[in-house]
Amino acid sequence: MKKEYDVIVVGGGPAGSTAARYAASGGASVLMLEKDRDIGYPVRCGEAVSHEGVTQFIEPDPKWIAATVTKFRLVAPNGKEVTPRLDGNGYVLERRLFDYAVAKLAADAGAEIITKAYAYDLLTDSAGRAVGVKALIKDEQVEIRSRIVIGADGVESRVGRWAGIDSVCSIHDMESCAQMTLSGIDVVQDRLDFYFGEELAPGGYLWVFPKGKNSANVGIGISVEEAKKKSAIKYLEEFVDRIFPHAAMLTRIAGGVPCAATCDTLVKNNVMLVGDAGHQVNPTSGGGIISGMIGGMIAGQVAAEAIKANDLSLLPEYQKRWQRRLGWRHEVFYTIKEAISDFSNETLNSIAESALKLPEGKRTLGGIFRAALWNKPSLLIDVAKVFIS
Ligand SMILES: Cc1cc2nc3c(=O)[nH]c(=O)nc-3n(C[C@H](O)[C@H](O)[C@H](O)COP(=O)(O)OP(=O)(O)OC[C@H]3O[C@@H](n4cnc5c(N)ncnc54)[C@H](O)[C@@H]3O)c2cc1C
Repeated sequence: MKKEYDVIVVGGGPAGSTAARYAASGGASVLMLEKDRDIGYPVRCGEAVSHEGVTQFIEPDPKWIAATVTKFRLVAPNGKEVTPRLDGNGYVLERRLFDYAVAKLAADAGAEIITKAYAYDLLTDSAGRAVGVKALIKDEQVEIRSRIVIGADGVESRVGRWAGIDSVCSIHDMESCAQMTLSGIDVVQDRLDFYFGEELAPGGYLWVFPKGKNSANVGIGISVEEAKKKSAIKYLEEFVDRIFPHAAMLTRIAGGVPCAATCDTLVKNNVMLVGDAGHQVNPTSGGGIISGMIGGMIAGQVAAEAIKANDLSLLPEYQKRWQRRLGWRHEVFYTIKEAISDFSNETLNSIAESALKLPEGKRTLGGIFRAALWNKPSLLIDVAKVFIS
């Protein structure tokens, strides 16, 4: 390890590795620090991604694909089911191996990576700008200098706070998630299942994602406000006891997902935030792997350009490019999430009924969204507002 780099990335998840990869391939010297012993572990994720999303960054490899999905099933509170087709395939990943492969791409591009390396503060100059990080590496305190720090330290990000960025997600927008990986169960392997209902998952949903023969990730996401009344894990246990009473439990995890619009500030004092740290998750679905990688890619590219031009005043360009690429869409998704989370059982049931009346070929997500609009026309006004403002 050197004492000085152009860019230090804190966090070796998909967003951090992708930022490191693109900064390094753009010519910057890059160090990525990961606090855990292994990249990709522990896994706190349902692991579902689209083919289209993944292939922007890496060729699908059977080594890290647990299941290939072609459709999804929505189960309404009254048990009515709609099974729309997906626009293109999706995958349920082995994220431990996927994250590893994504980090390898960063290493191949020239980034140095150190695990068991915990960043505990920024090094700052007299103006409060970041000039590196303080880290505990293999139990030794070290100071490493850099011109730019990229905070990719996930949902509990502290790097943003150190730089003076308000990156705390409000309780209203934080989803409380719990998940079990179950085995010894009967699961359709090419389908993602989603269950909705006020009693099952108030304001959120339950999922069953196939994870290879006889296995699945079974999880739930509900708002933290709801989870205060009854915990996400309690809802999940009740669901699993009912649907998979004889399952063997291989893993059990809990975690938060920031289902908010992107942080107002992604760049400050030579620090850039990517992935969950910058709230780059799709607020409707809670999916953050691919969008975090897109954020990481743009941040890495802009960091390399700023280093090449020897001009750190270029860094805010990252926020502009993110907004043009995905930020504006996430604002639309946020509006949709706010409307959907208020849907009653009756509304959800009648959306399922309307969707079932659609000819099978039209049972796409778009078709179901139109059915939802039919039930709640004010949703259209909410969405329109985003485009007009
Ligand atoms: C239960 C659950 C299910 C989910 N299901 C899906 C899904 O199906 N599909 C999907 O797309 N998304 C899903 N998500 C969201 C997805 O997991 C995240 O959006 C994604 O992992 C974000 O990537 P990231 O790189 O920003 O952060 P992370 O993957 O969280 O990586 C952050 C890394 O930073 C490291 N770190 C933190 N602090 C420090 C520090 N101080 N020093 C050094 N290293 C540090 C951590 O150890 C970690 O490795 C789910 C989330 C949860 C909780």
